[in-house]
This record gives sequence, C-alpha cells and structure tokens, in this order.
Amino acid sequence: MSVVLGCIADDFTGASDLAGMLVRHGMRAVQTIGVPEQPASAIDADAIVVALKSRTIAPEAAVEQSLAALAWLQAGGATRFYFKYCSTFDSTDAGNIGPVAEALMDALGADQAIACPAFPENGRTVFKGYLFAGDVLLNESGMQDHPLTPMTDPNLVRVLQRQSKRGVGLLDYRAIRGGADAARSRLDALKAEGKGLVVADATDADDLRTLAAAAVGQVLTTGGSGLAVGMPAAFAAAGLFTPQAAAADLPAVGGLSAVISGSCSRATNEQVAIFQKDHPSFQIDPMALAEGRDLAAEALAWAEPKLADRPVLIYATAAPEAVRAAQAAIGREAAGAMVEAALASIALGLAAAGVRRLVVAGGETSGAIVQALGLEALRIGKEIDPGVPWCVAVGRAPIALALKSGNFGAPDFFAKALATAP
Ligand code: ADP
Repeated sequence: MSVVLGCIADDFTGASDLAGMLVRHGMRAVQTIGVPEQPASAIDADAIVVALKSRTIAPEAAVEQSLAALAWLQAGGATRFYFKYCSTFDSTDAGNIGPVAEALMDALGADQAIACPAFPENGRTVFKGYLFAGDVLLNESGMQDHPLTPMTDPNLVRVLQRQSKRGVGLLDYRAIRGGADAARSRLDALKAEGKGLVVADATDADDLRTLAAAAVGQVLTTGGSGLAVGMPAAFAAAGLFTPQAAAADLPAVGGLSAVISGSCSRATNEQVAIFQKDHPSFQIDPMALAEGRDLAAEALAWAEPKLADRPVLIYATAAPEAVRAAQAAIGREAAGAMVEAALASIALGLAAAGVRRLVVAGGETSGAIVQALGLEALRIGKEIDPGVPWCVAVGRAPIALALKSGNFGAPDFFAKALATAP
C-alpha cells in the first residue's frame, strides 16, 4: 500500500519522534533526511516524514524547503499532510511556524489548520492556549534560556499570531471535551470568524484522540508529535489505511556503540552527568574550538582505543551559565555552528572506527550528524522513551541511530538506549 500521510518536520529529532509515534500506533513509517533523490513512491511505508533542518533558518528558506517537501510527498501519492514542529514550540517572533504553515495551506488550498504542540505523555500540555512544560509555563521551564530559540511568551495564540497573516483562534478544552463533533463545530465557527490557524488545547491523550478525529478532514494539520497518538486510529476509521502489528520491526545491526551529546537542555545535562559516572567521557568546549583547537581529532584519538571496551560519551552539553559565557565570547550562532561541526565530524570518525549504534542528544546536533553521515532515509522502530525511537538507515550499510531532542528521555536514557539497540 502506498503512502497516505506525508509529514514535514522542522528538525531531525522531531521527525523521528513523530515517526516513532506513528509506528507505535500501527503505521509503518520512514523518515527521510531532506527531500531524497528517489521518488516517495519507491518507499514502502504508510507515512513518510521528511526531516528538514528549517527550525531556525530564515523564514523564506524554510518556506521554500517545506514547499519542495510537500511537492515530493504529493507526487508520491500522499493525500493528508502534517507539519511537525516542537512540543515546546521553539519559535521566536522571527520564527517559521506561522510562515511555513500558511505557505503549505496556500499550496494545498486549505482554509483552516489546527496547531497542536501538546504532548501530554512528555508533560507538554496546552490549556486555554497556554503551553506548559511539566508543572510550569513554557517561559519558566528552562526554555527561556534555549541557546537558539528562547521562549519568553507561553501564550501560543499570541506567539503564532505574531508570525501569521491569517487570524489565529483557540479551540479550547471545553469544545474538545464535548467530543469530535463538538470540536468540529467549534472549528467551523472559528473559520467563520476568520481564524485560519487554530491553537488547540489538549491536556491528555483523550483530548488528542478527539482532536485527531475532529481534524481528519483537514488536508493539513500542524503540531507536535503528540497528536500522532490519535492520527492512525482516525485515519483507519476514515478508511485511509489498515494498522499493522509489525510496524515497528527493524533489521538487526550490532557493532560498536557511542553517545554524542550537543544538547544543553536541563534533561540532557542530567543524562550526561549520570552516564559519565560509569562511562568514559570527553568534553567539547566551544571556547577551545574558537581558539582553533582541533577537538574533533583529539576526541577521536581519545575514543578509538576505548570503543571495543565500552561505549564512550562525547559531549558539548553545558550548564546555562557556561553556554551564556561561550555565546557572549563567540556569538550564539557561531558557537552553535562550531560545536555542531565538531560533533558531526566526530560522528563520521566514530563510524569509520566501526561504531554502528549511535545515540545522539540534541535536535540541531542530530541534524548535523545525520547530514554528515550522508543518510537519506531511516526506517523507524520501537521507542526507547516516549518520543525517541531507534531507527536504521535504509538502503546502505546499516547504522542504527537514536536521535533525542533536548528535553526528552529519562535520566538514564543513554544506558537504556544502548541496552535496547538493534
Ligand atoms: P536541543 O535539542 O536541546 O534544542 P540542539 O542540538 O537542537 O539541542 O541545540 C543546541 C545548540 O547549542 C546546538 O547548536 C549546539 O551546537 C549548541 N551548543 C552545544 N553546546 C554548547 C555550548 N557548550 N555552548 C554554546 N552552544 C552550545
């Protein structure tokens, strides 16, 4: 059966997170790295998630890349589309969620699309349009200190309206609690009020299932990966595809393992600290990179004799004060780019040294690494922790990757991932 759902994700870990959720609910999913050379019709999957690296690029470039992905997915036969961004929104006033959503709507002739970043299983909930991360508002969650996309306003209707030409409305929890029909009526009423984009409340999985059912008629839906909890069932109910029990099966890979971390989130700082206690670790310091030191070569020379023994950790992860100090000295983008380049060349070196199972922390970091490894498509398997599946490269020497975006994963995520590697 050919692809039904075509997804466009604004970063790599977000793409695997979404694909993992779809797989968990019976959709066979492949994630591509950018728009591949091969046609989408050559890929055997119910859902294809095109992973872009468009979260923090200029809006015009994000729009262009997203439209190219859309055209490729349409040519492959997809009839429903999903624009995936982060469950913590990760979009400043100069951000791309509004511009990309509106360009996709224009291309598809869609008159309304919901915006639903909620992912209750991971503690991201939306109530009255306000986004919570755990028990606190987004702007108190640590996201106000994100190296690239500091989030200082937790009200998504306001945030999205500042990025959009169309009116932005709110589908609030009362309409959703009334069931799919009530939610659909409310969406129609909002459409009549000129609300082309609608932020949707959701505080649990039932809300998401209701929303997915209410939005099944929308050609384009936008949001985080949480909504994927309900999309496969909604699609199956609409007769669009048949769920499969073996959707998560991956080929066996084996080989040496390593962990690379470029995320500076609170969760990753804790995961690094825990894994360091019983694994060798090597730190990449952006200040040293800026002074011209070849830390990638140093890290590889350090790692190679250790790999046969046990998995090593190479990390740039640092506490907010250290990140701020590096950014003040070098510049935010330059520090990020230097670290990403170093970690990508380390990944390449580790693969050359026989590493076949790689755990990566950081959305942008994962993007840089997957690009450096020259991967075109990944078949998605079982999740390690909510939102983070193992995946295996399609159509080349197998390499298994676990790509974790910043705030995801339990404190012992790295060890847990390595213990369940394919
Ligand atoms: P997350 O998923 O947590 O957002 P990302 O990899 O997407 O992680 O983004 C983190 C960014 O911070 C990357 O661009 C990375 O290169 C950069 N970075 C990593 N470590 C440091 C550091 N010590 N100082 C400054 N920037 C850093």
